[in-house]
Amino acid sequence: MDFDLSPAHELTRRTVREFAEGEVAPVAEELDRNKAFPYEIVAKLGQLNLMGIPFPEEYGGGGGDTLAYALAVEELTRVDSSVAITLCAHTSLGTQPIYLFGSEQQKREWLPRLCSGERLGAFGLTEPEAGSDAGNTRTRARLEHGEWVIDGAKQFITNAGTEISGIVCITAVTGPRDHAGATERTATARPDLKEISNLIVPNGTPGYEPGEPYRKMGWNASDTRPLSFSECRVPEANLLGPRGAGFRQFLHILDIGRIGVAAMGVGLAQGALDQALAYAKQRVAFGKPISKFQAIQGKLADMATEIEAARLLVYKAAREKDAGRNFTLTAAQAKLKTGRLAVRCAEEAVQIHGGYGFIEEYPVCRFYRDAKILTIGEGTDEVQQMVIARALGA
Ligand SMILES: Cc1cc2nc3c(=O)[nH]c(=O)nc-3n(C[C@H](O)[C@H](O)[C@H](O)COP(=O)(O)OP(=O)(O)OC[C@H]3O[C@@H](n4cnc5c(N)ncnc54)[C@H](O)[C@@H]3O)c2cc1C
Repeated sequence: MDFDLSPAHELTRRTVREFAEGEVAPVAEELDRNKAFPYEIVAKLGQLNLMGIPFPEEYGGGGGDTLAYALAVEELTRVDSSVAITLCAHTSLGTQPIYLFGSEQQKREWLPRLCSGERLGAFGLTEPEAGSDAGNTRTRARLEHGEWVIDGAKQFITNAGTEISGIVCITAVTGPRDHAGATERTATARPDLKEISNLIVPNGTPGYEPGEPYRKMGWNASDTRPLSFSECRVPEANLLGPRGAGFRQFLHILDIGRIGVAAMGVGLAQGALDQALAYAKQRVAFGKPISKFQAIQGKLADMATEIEAARLLVYKAAREKDAGRNFTLTAAQAKLKTGRLAVRCAEEAVQIHGGYGFIEEYPVCRFYRDAKILTIGEGTDEVQQMVIARALGA
């Protein structure tokens, strides 16, 4: 077993770290304070070929693998979570469904614009009555004269309401029964499941309206909104993959997305540790740097150890996916482990900063607010436990 990154992966890490420290760190606090979407940074990420890392070059992607993608997400989150989730939701959730399930024509139409960062992709799964219970979709789409007519609402959707948002892939009920999507287990457990399909809805389509942005605890510079669909018509050809495959498709998308969000957890935890260590070395109390006190050293040592263990879990999930193996279990374990770790490390980092940890000009204050969503988004901790227990055969 080789724990070293390849030279290509090291280069990805170095490139993104330099970019994050040079271009993101100086503006992160201001963007967060003003709740301003990072348009310039997204444009630069596009120029660096980072807005479509795991997609083939023939579609304008970076031609990288999942590990390269995880490294990039980790390095961005080490500095700022809003920028990281923008890239992460765009890649894993917005662009991925088109790459995995789209027709050749859909790929040619959308992937180059998404991978260049010219347009952002979003994924609309969550609804007022369908969060953890994502199959409980109420949004409906009926086929009428060669068009899907969509009615319904989504909530908490990332990247759908910016000036450069291009598409949202949504789940909708397209029929009375789930034919292709349900596994034997879900079909038995959930006889109420309807036929769910995925549809591409371009921004600007009449009847599709992103709502006002939410006022959030964190991720302030990222875009999160409710979406409404009222007699919204898209061509029949905007169906993603076979009709009724939407349930299976979104489960797979969520598995992949968990690797990205788990990489965010490691990155945030590492950023918190880096900030805490630097502060502890220069803050003097009782005549010496607080880093010399055993109580502080214990916190730093525990953080570093847990982060390294969690990082290996994330890289293992990425490796399994890249090897074409089943990665559902490892991705859920990585997501569960890293979300909790990010929350704990952010809290310890604030503690090590003392009163300054509560003051916004210190990054750990923002990290603390940004960490909590990592135990909720992309499947809550309780949902990860369900996925893990199921994989164990419990
Ligand atoms: C900032 C932000 C960005 C987001 N971006 C997106 C996005 O881009 N696209 C998208 O589709 N969604 C997005 N989401 C939605 C997110 O994925 C959901 O909030 C999350 O999956 C939880 O769903 P819920 O909020 O409906 O909570 P609920 O499902 O109502 O859960 C409430 C509580 O009940 C628990 N619970 C539920 N069912 C069970 C059970 N069977 N056993 C034990 N406990 C259970 C949960 O774990 C949780 O603690 C985003 C959310 C936020 C806040």
